Amino acid sequence: MIEFSEIDLGARAPDISDGGKWKSVPLVQRVDPLTLKTCRILTGVKLQPESPPDLAEITDSGGFCPFCEDVFERVTFEFERDVIPVGRLRKNKAAIVPNIMAYSGYSSVGIYDTTRHFIKLGQFTKELLTDALSLMVEHAKAVRLARPDLAWSSISANYLPSSGSSVVHPHLQSSHDFQPMLGQNEWVEGAKRYFHETSRPYFDDLVSQEKNSSRYVGTTGSVTWLTPFAPRGFQEVWGVFSDIGDIVQLSDENTSDLAEGMIRVFKYYDAHNFSAFNYSLVGGGPESSSMGFRLVFRILVRSNPDRHYRSDVTYFERLLEEPLLDVSPEEVAKAARDYFN
Ligand SMILES: [Zn+2]
Repeated sequence: MIEFSEIDLGARAPDISDGGKWKSVPLVQRVDPLTLKTCRILTGVKLQPESPPDLAEITDSGGFCPFCEDVFERVTFEFERDVIPVGRLRKNKAAIVPNIMAYSGYSSVGIYDTTRHFIKLGQFTKELLTDALSLMVEHAKAVRLARPDLAWSSISANYLPSSGSSVVHPHLQSSHDFQPMLGQNEWVEGAKRYFHETSRPYFDDLVSQEKNSSRYVGTTGSVTWLTPFAPRGFQEVWGVFSDIGDIVQLSDENTSDLAEGMIRVFKYYDAHNFSAFNYSLVGGGPESSSMGFRLVFRILVRSNPDRHYRSDVTYFERLLEEPLLDVSPEEVAKAARDYFN
């Protein structure tokens, strides 16, 4: 059994609705069993957006965009031919090119649709996501073949400027390194520790345990969707793969299963007035198979890009590394589940 631990922080505060009378307020700290990282969950306070943001000003194409079809092949570069013989990877409306900003040993940027400067959350289709993801997998396989030492792979995305994205045209990015990133390493080390203690793959146990819990969201083929017991951010949802532990092991069927679930999460977010998000699909590195690591897709929402938006990253997250959440994972799962039925 994976143990979930929750600590009542015994918070007290004056009640505004009762003349400022001091009362006990529900506030808990939760510990993630894999990384031992903590978060705190408030009860009753809801800082959720009441209406969808007006994205027109941000998303009007106006100026120059390197990912729009009219200039795309002129202003982006080809991959080195000894790694990707065709130079540029394209499939229907999706395309993958090298990222000119080297943030990893090999990094790439993928565009879901070069013919549309902006795609609203509710306008994404399974086909667009499947095409872009499968190109990312094709690129990852080619990189791994040319450079087997770059065994730490991930596919991630920022969507809209308030999530950290510098280009509005919706895109995704990949990283292939011989060194893991901190978060990737923590996950792998946690899974390794669990495997040594129990001889069982952590994420397989997590899925079988959580399938009967209030955090279960749904299943799309090879991917089980759930909310994490101790999230790192708002409205966080995980898609956990069965059997595979690395990006290069993804089959066409796997990417289609992932895209199917992503569309459902996008629809859920859209219906609840969220717009910006980050996601990451993290591979388990060179020892992923021997410890039964499982590929996990993680997505969470960021502040809506309103004119005077409040950042969702405060000193709690940035300096104390303890996310402060106003909605519990159980409430998120309950609401998201409607989009998986
Ligand atoms: Zn564009």
